[in-house]
Amino acid sequence: MQNKQQSSNMMYKNGRGWLRPFYFIFLSRTILVLGFIFVIWQSWNNIKAQEELCQMTRESLEAIKAASIACKNVKEPVHVPLPTSARMCDAIGEYNEIGKSNDGPTIFAITPTFTRPVQKAELTRLSQTFLLVPNFHWIVIEDSEEKTPLVTNFLAESGLTYTHINAPTPTHYKLGKSDQVWKKPRGVEQRNAALRWIRNNLNESRNGVVYFADDDNTYSRHLFREMVKVKRVGVWPVGLVGGLMVEKPICDEATGKVTGFNAIWKPERPFPIDMAGFAINLQVILEKKEAYFAYDIQSGFQESEILKKVTFRDELEGLASGCTKVYVWHTRTQNPVLNTENIYKKKRGKASNTGIEV
Ligand code: UDP
Ligand code: MN
Repeated sequence: MQNKQQSSNMMYKNGRGWLRPFYFIFLSRTILVLGFIFVIWQSWNNIKAQEELCQMTRESLEAIKAASIACKNVKEPVHVPLPTSARMCDAIGEYNEIGKSNDGPTIFAITPTFTRPVQKAELTRLSQTFLLVPNFHWIVIEDSEEKTPLVTNFLAESGLTYTHINAPTPTHYKLGKSDQVWKKPRGVEQRNAALRWIRNNLNESRNGVVYFADDDNTYSRHLFREMVKVKRVGVWPVGLVGGLMVEKPICDEATGKVTGFNAIWKPERPFPIDMAGFAINLQVILEKKEAYFAYDIQSGFQESEILKKVTFRDELEGLASGCTKVYVWHTRTQNPVLNTENIYKKKRGKASNTGIEV
């Protein structure tokens, strides 16, 4: 009996049992390697499938275009966005990025605004561009004694990250109804209030770029892709300003260095560019604590007032493909003619917008 057990123990010791751990290691490694190969194979398949999809989309768009041209009943061919579809995969990549936050700098856009019939329309146009911009923080400063319900509700529903401030322009600087617009500076009190807010609430640890975005201009989302590149102070062309189709810095394409400006209106300005034509890195705004806008300076010199406190001409960084692209326009919204409102009020006893926010 004892002998039998001894011999079976011997069998175990002398048999192949000691190889078992090696089998196990070999098996698990094989599974691991196979798994790895499978994952790579799957991702490769995914890439191929995506490329095929892009190719199919491209082909079908081209087919639609060809069909529409061939179709006798259609006088004008249907225009499908072929330039975009030709870059379909790039475009998909780009559209996936729209409005999503990333690890780039935050754009702090400072917008003075005041009550008038077109205000909500202006803010709507702006907000819907800004929604397309990643890492966007809107600082809206109302030129009013109190924050208005219109702007308060508008911002709350905008879907944007924002800060809402009010800072009324002192009465003696306020434009009268009959004053020419160039008589008094506009937006000074509000932009300064925003600069104070930034200096009181943000610190050097924040990666940001500060931009003065008036509420009546027109902004392309591509402007903000340039702005994120600003290291100290960046500049670019502005359309429809200074009496020109485009007022712009003249830049060296390769280095981005600014060698001059094309301005005709007051070319003696230290920085002959519009408020919409530059942005300043947050670090610079925090460093140069004394940089503010001022009231008692010549009209058209507000930009120079702040820029001369934060930079020199030869330090400017020319953006937008060597200052050759226009991504912002100094549009000015016409005051609407609302004379029929008086007739309406007489006839109906109330304004057309009673109970409706316009
Ligand atoms: N603005 C303001 N209060 C005013 C007039 C203008 O807050 O009484 C704002 C306006 O909404 C804009 C900025 O200041 O965001 C610059 O004004 P405007 O567009 O009239 O200046 P311009 O285009 O003539 O330089
Ligand atoms: Mn304007």
